[in-house]
Amino acid sequence: MRVRRFGALIGAGMALSLALTACGSDTEKTEAKTIVQKAKDDKKLTIGIKYDQPGLGLKKPDGTFSGFDVDVAKYIAKQLGVPESGITFKETTSANRESFIGGGQVDLVIATYSITEERKQQVTFGGPYYVAHQDTMVTADNDDIKKAADLKGKRLCKAAGSNSFRRITEPEPDGKLDIDGVKLVDAQSYSECVSKLKSGALDAVSTDDVILAGFANQQKGSFKVINDPFTDEKFGVGMKKGDTETCEAVNKAVNQMYSDGTAGKLLDTHFAGSGLKVTKTVPQMEGCA
Ligand code: GLU
Repeated sequence: MRVRRFGALIGAGMALSLALTACGSDTEKTEAKTIVQKAKDDKKLTIGIKYDQPGLGLKKPDGTFSGFDVDVAKYIAKQLGVPESGITFKETTSANRESFIGGGQVDLVIATYSITEERKQQVTFGGPYYVAHQDTMVTADNDDIKKAADLKGKRLCKAAGSNSFRRITEPEPDGKLDIDGVKLVDAQSYSECVSKLKSGALDAVSTDDVILAGFANQQKGSFKVINDPFTDEKFGVGMKKGDTETCEAVNKAVNQMYSDGTAGKLLDTHFAGSGLKVTKTVPQMEGCA
């Protein structure tokens, strides 16, 4: 299994280098460009974000976008030579991020996208540009879930394609607590999870603290976050597997976003009112190899 997977990786790497070699001939250039090259030549990028997560990626009624991920996307695009007017935002859900990257519907994904072992087999991650921690949210009047271990036997949201429920029900590397007897309730997104929590169809939503803070802040008084963080969620910038040039350029941009003070300001802008304690030091980069 291990050997097969390694073989598959070499295969994928070779396919990309062959594709890149093919850019010698002018006609094939568009096919084989890295995202860095595409950004430089076209001054355009299509970036996948969430549309329904307040504070992170939110499509507003007037059609504009707001949130930390949106601003990180604009900063990185600028560093790659693409002005704000050259960005097309496209909605990515937790479930379609890998297929949208692989199929070329998006150039980059910046959408509360944790770097996990399973996903690393399919995509390359720049960053992390932020390290969140998984926490758990309940309704404001709930008194029986005080720590993550209390989720045993409880109804917990399972957002399609997201990794958060695994952190509760499965062991490491991509799981964590490995709790038995949790009743998983399906949803398509975290906004659906939060609606279900509010309507009483769920006991808890467990995911990245920044996501929970965004919803709790948007609907003040409805929910409480239990403050029992138990993972490091490294938010990566997803891109086509093997695009090392773009990964390195993204890492450079992320470092600069912290060193010039932008990251700290953006975190204040989007989370200051939420009560969440954010981290403003630059994360350790994952590496592009
Ligand atoms: N960061 C977690 C993940 O990537 C949860 C949030 C999400 O699905 O967007 O699975």
